[in-house]
Amino acid sequence: MGQNNYFRNLSVTIMGVLFVLTAVTVIAAVFFSVEFYRAVFFIIAILLVLFLLFLLAGFIIISRSSGKNEATTYRPGFSGSLLTPVAFRFFMPVLLFASDVFNYRKEEIRRVYIKANNDYVLSLGKKVPPEKLLVILPHCLQWSECGYRMREGLNECRQCNRCSLGKIKELAKKHGVMVTLATGGTSARKAVRDLKPGLVVAVACERDLSSGIMDVRGLPVYGIINERPNGPCRDTLVDAGELEKVLRYFITERN
Ligand code: SF4
Repeated sequence: MGQNNYFRNLSVTIMGVLFVLTAVTVIAAVFFSVEFYRAVFFIIAILLVLFLLFLLAGFIIISRSSGKNEATTYRPGFSGSLLTPVAFRFFMPVLLFASDVFNYRKEEIRRVYIKANNDYVLSLGKKVPPEKLLVILPHCLQWSECGYRMREGLNECRQCNRCSLGKIKELAKKHGVMVTLATGGTSARKAVRDLKPGLVVAVACERDLSSGIMDVRGLPVYGIINERPNGPCRDTLVDAGELEKVLRYFITERN
């Protein structure tokens, strides 16, 4: 298609939309009374007040979590209320969207979300048998010069300990949990669908963790942010000690 066609299509579309808007405005001006407009604005005002209250409730709920216990203490940071899932489902996506659009402190906002989510997951007090706990790891944890090709699990890892995966493989074997490597959101979702865990511990950057937590509905996901001393997506690290503490917290005690 020539450039002229693109130009023509876009121009015609914009003018078409403007024409429809103009027609609707003219019809509204001619046929509707002042009372009608007053009623419309009244309804809009009520909806805006409800939305504002909703955001306020979400803000209070999330604020109660941030700044309290450090996640590394593995104690519930706040007791969940009926509104808590609503705050996570609606308030935080609005906030994350706004921080994306205005490019305002995206990483910090995502970190608050991840921490609040972790506190909420801890407050649920849920424990699962090890075989129902799935650890999802990002591919960038693998040493970039490692010659072994990891597909989904860590079977190929020779535990040379040049990267965090060697230690994680050992932890997975020791605690009997499932581990999968994800190349992104799609493969992480597929792993959750296929393996049907009761709880997920996910390691990733702030962006992937916050979007992953939002994607997975009805399944507790505890997030651990990876360290990126070599920049994003390359030879990242995770504190295996912290990971083990989290695993111990969520796994049911064996009798
Ligand atoms: S620990 Fe495993 S994945 Fe990491 S470099 Fe060694 S063999 Fe490769």
